[in-house]
Amino acid sequence: TNFTDLGLNPLLLKALTAENYETPTPIQAQAIPHLMQGRDLLGVAQTGTGKTAAFALPILHRLMADRRTAPRRGCRVLVLSPTRELASQIAESFRVYGRHLPLTRTTVFGGVGMGPQIRTMAQGVDVLVATPGRLLDLMSQGAIRLSDLEVFVLDEADQMLDMGFIHAIRKIVATIPAKRQSLFFSATMPTDIADLAGRLLTDPVKVAV
Ligand code: AMP
Repeated sequence: TNFTDLGLNPLLLKALTAENYETPTPIQAQAIPHLMQGRDLLGVAQTGTGKTAAFALPILHRLMADRRTAPRRGCRVLVLSPTRELASQIAESFRVYGRHLPLTRTTVFGGVGMGPQIRTMAQGVDVLVATPGRLLDLMSQGAIRLSDLEVFVLDEADQMLDMGFIHAIRKIVATIPAKRQSLFFSATMPTDIADLAGRLLTDPVKVAV
């Protein structure tokens, strides 16, 4: 498989060329065609496999194929990440792959003031990358609402559970639309993670690399 065979927006291909990405990694080759069809995905993959591009590219493609204004105080895409560092890396990947696209993105995480995050979210963003605790804080203040969400990504699910985020995740998921595309990634798949995935995903494609 080649990136040009995947049917991605040409402006995404242009960004990939600039990054010297020549061929899709296995998870990209396996996941991107299904994600382009709107399917849910259960991915068993570690960091370093190219999983960020495996979800960011089809998501950016989808946002451009169906252009809409970002919902006020909301987002079209939510990526949940366990740590501030990972959240920042994911947001940076969306920035790099989407550099030629007129889309907005931001990150929210704890340990910094809420004011700037509240102000950025007031007009809404296309892609929000968040850690669960801070997202929930901002939701309970009415600064973020997820009622117009179109795509939900849960990254590093096993690390999320290890860090005690299960209740926060359940509360967040309870507010998002039932009709959505959901992606779930974990490096390991013990029973509790598989149970959570089963509750979040509808007829998912399974990819393990
Ligand atoms: P990730 O697993 O998403 O953390 O990605 C690991 C690293 O691989 C990152 O530095 C990416 O920039 C890089 N990468 C992802 N996909 C490709 C690709 N198809 N070709 C070359 N490098 C890639």
